[in-house]
Amino acid sequence: MINIHLNKEMEDYIVERHLLYCLGEPRRKFYKYYSGLNATSKEHAIMKILKEHLVTIFIGSVDDIETIMKYERTEKPIISKLGKLSDKELAQFFRQQKNIFNYDSFSSSYKNKPTIFNDLLDNSRFRIIINGKKKRNLTLDHLDNLKHHFDLKTLLYNKLCDQNGITRLKIINDMNQLCNPIFKKYNSLLTGGVKVSITDFHVKLIKALDQILEAYKWGPYDYIEALEIITCPYCNRQYLTFFDKFRARRKPDLDHFYSKSDFPFLGISIFNLVPCCKVCNQSFKGSKKFIKTKKYERSPYRHEIILNSLNNLSSSNVIYPCIYPIARHSRLPDDLQIFKLKYDISGSLVIGLNFADIIRSTHDLLYNLGVFHIEDVYQIHNNYGRDLFDNISMYTDDYIADTVKLLQSNHMTVPSKKDLYKFLMGNQYFSHEFSDQVLSQLTRDVTRQFIPKYF
Ligand SMILES: [Zn+2]
Repeated sequence: MINIHLNKEMEDYIVERHLLYCLGEPRRKFYKYYSGLNATSKEHAIMKILKEHLVTIFIGSVDDIETIMKYERTEKPIISKLGKLSDKELAQFFRQQKNIFNYDSFSSSYKNKPTIFNDLLDNSRFRIIINGKKKRNLTLDHLDNLKHHFDLKTLLYNKLCDQNGITRLKIINDMNQLCNPIFKKYNSLLTGGVKVSITDFHVKLIKALDQILEAYKWGPYDYIEALEIITCPYCNRQYLTFFDKFRARRKPDLDHFYSKSDFPFLGISIFNLVPCCKVCNQSFKGSKKFIKTKKYERSPYRHEIILNSLNNLSSSNVIYPCIYPIARHSRLPDDLQIFKLKYDISGSLVIGLNFADIIRSTHDLLYNLGVFHIEDVYQIHNNYGRDLFDNISMYTDDYIADTVKLLQSNHMTVPSKKDLYKFLMGNQYFSHEFSDQVLSQLTRDVTRQFIPKYF
């Protein structure tokens, strides 16, 4: 089990792309369902809370999601309300949510264009904005209407970002940069008395918008690519196969960390989707419901998104029906040693779990290691472990001192710990780089077991 490390730049990219997707179809579906609900119904009360935290549900970090889940759990009045729903009503309610937060739609379309300017791109809706009638020539009134509509959207999106502590959307800047000159140009043409057909103008605008929307396409392939993750975060022993060429596409599984059948509103929560190998997802985790079966579990996402909205959460304003206990966990410590080599009964060195360290630092990891049968599946790497041990036995103080000198003569500077480690052990030294190479956690843990002085 290793962390998926996200830097700020990757986070911004993923959050913006995914938000643009979610604010299209999923958000429209949400509001359609919400507005059709009886305002005194139990479903309405619950959906109202989801509405207030819709952005967090779409792009919140695992901690954010868990905070919402946690409040769900503690808010007794709503849970008791939900408890009054019959099984049939509850199933129907969950079906509606699944349809809104629809993972299949997200994953089946290879790349989704953001839909924020669909009303300008679509002819019939475009006509509504320019006052309905199909007039031949563009007037200053039409242009004002369109500009007003354009600015309103920009304003709304910026407001949304401010409210949720998100870096302002880059797409809005791109839109303004490309579209404002077009508005300006046509404004001066019209004031100068030049006749312009509506179609002419519309075609120009569509072209500009389309160019931008094309650049902001988003789907599961873009997501996995953006994460830059190379090995399965659950086992760190399989490389993830990502292939996207000549219309033939293969991607790793995207596991719903918190299952979408228990939490349908998490169906397209981006940081609830964990790219992983098929063995971990299908053979081991499968339909095992993390939350239902045990108290502890740990998502591999590790990042620093702090959504402002969550600072204001109190148990009275975030509630969702959750019947399972949720544990909030501390981060995986960087120096945690998960593996160690030990002698089995026959006297051979084998790979084992370093229970003392695991339990001391984090309980929830133990549960994950069990779900993915880590100790068992690692037995196939016992030979690798023994090779490591053999190498390490040769790394005496003199040998390491000579290696430092050798590297120094090549680099002209004293090699960093990382350089020295890579040279000797052939793997990643820092935990945030573990996802780049298989067996990186095992390699570092065994190294530290035997030569802690240097690493
Ligand atoms: Zn795996």
